[in-house]
Amino acid sequence: GVEPQPTWCPGCGDFAVLKALKGAMPELGRSPEEVMLVTGIGCSGKLSSYFESYGYHSIHGRALPVARAAKVANPGLEVVAAGGDGDGYGIGGNHFMHTARENHDMTYIVFNNEIFGLTKGQTSPTSPKGHKSKTQPSGSAKDPVRPLTLSLASGASYIARTAATNPRQAQQIIAEAVEHDGFAHIDFLTQCPTWNKDAKEYVPYTDVQEEYDFDRTDRREAADMMYEAETKLYEGEVLTGRFYRDEQRPSYGQEKRSTGEMPEEPLAERYFEDDPEFERVADHLIDRHK
Ligand code: SF4
Repeated sequence: GVEPQPTWCPGCGDFAVLKALKGAMPELGRSPEEVMLVTGIGCSGKLSSYFESYGYHSIHGRALPVARAAKVANPGLEVVAAGGDGDGYGIGGNHFMHTARENHDMTYIVFNNEIFGLTKGQTSPTSPKGHKSKTQPSGSAKDPVRPLTLSLASGASYIARTAATNPRQAQQIIAEAVEHDGFAHIDFLTQCPTWNKDAKEYVPYTDVQEEYDFDRTDRREAADMMYEAETKLYEGEVLTGRFYRDEQRPSYGQEKRSTGEMPEEPLAERYFEDDPEFERVADHLIDRHK
C-alpha cells in the first residue's frame, strides 16, 4: 500500500526518531512482521502509523502495559514502545517504573521535547523550572523529572540518551537497545519548534561520546554521570550516549520461563482445540464477563 506521510510540523524532532528506527531495523535484519511498535498519545504516538511493522496506537500513558502483553504473548516479536515525555514520565510514570523494575525485554523510546506538543504547548514533566506556558503562565515552579536517574533507580538494564541532531548516534543507540535482552530505555531529545520556541538548540554531536559509553554494572558511576548530564541539559549543554548496560540480569520472560511460571510455548501459538485446559479457562473467563 501507500506509505502514510508524516503530518508532524516542519522541523519537528520526531522525524529524526522515525529515520533512526527505519535505519536500525534493517541493519539488524528485522523484517516488518517481526516487529511490534506500540505508541502512546501525543505527536510521538503517530510513529506507529509511519513505521512499517505491526503497530498499536494505544492510550495515554499506557503504551508499556500493551507492549508487555504483546511480548508475553509472543516473545518472538521485537517489541518497541514509544511516546512523549508527558505520556511516559507523567501519565504513564508508574508503568515506566514497574516495566523497568521487572526488566521486560523491549525498547522504550521517549521523545523528550520538554513540552506537551499535540495539545498545544502545556508544561510537561521535563519542562525546565521557570518555563512559561498556558498552564504555568508565571513559570513552572517545579524541578523537572530526571528520566535517566529514574530509569536506573527503577531497574532498567539499558539506559541511553540521544538527540535528534545526532542521527548517526541515534541509529546506533536504537540498534543496541533493540539487541539488548531486557528493558532498554532511550531518552530521545527532540525539538518542538511549534510550541517550545524558547527551548535551547541541542548541541549536535557527530559521534557517540566515549566518555558516556559504559559496559559495566557500576550503578554508582552511572548515577553520577546521569546526574551530571541531567543537570547540564538545563544549563544548555547536552551530553548523550549510553549511560548504563547490564547484560547479566535476566529479562522478565527469561526469568519466568526458567521458573516454569511462563510456558515455553508462546500464547500466540496456542489454539483452543489443542489445549482443553486453556479452552476451559477461556470459557470460564468469557462466562464471567457475559
Ligand atoms: Fe512536532 Fe511540536 Fe509539531 Fe508536535 S506540535 S508535530 S512535537 S513540532
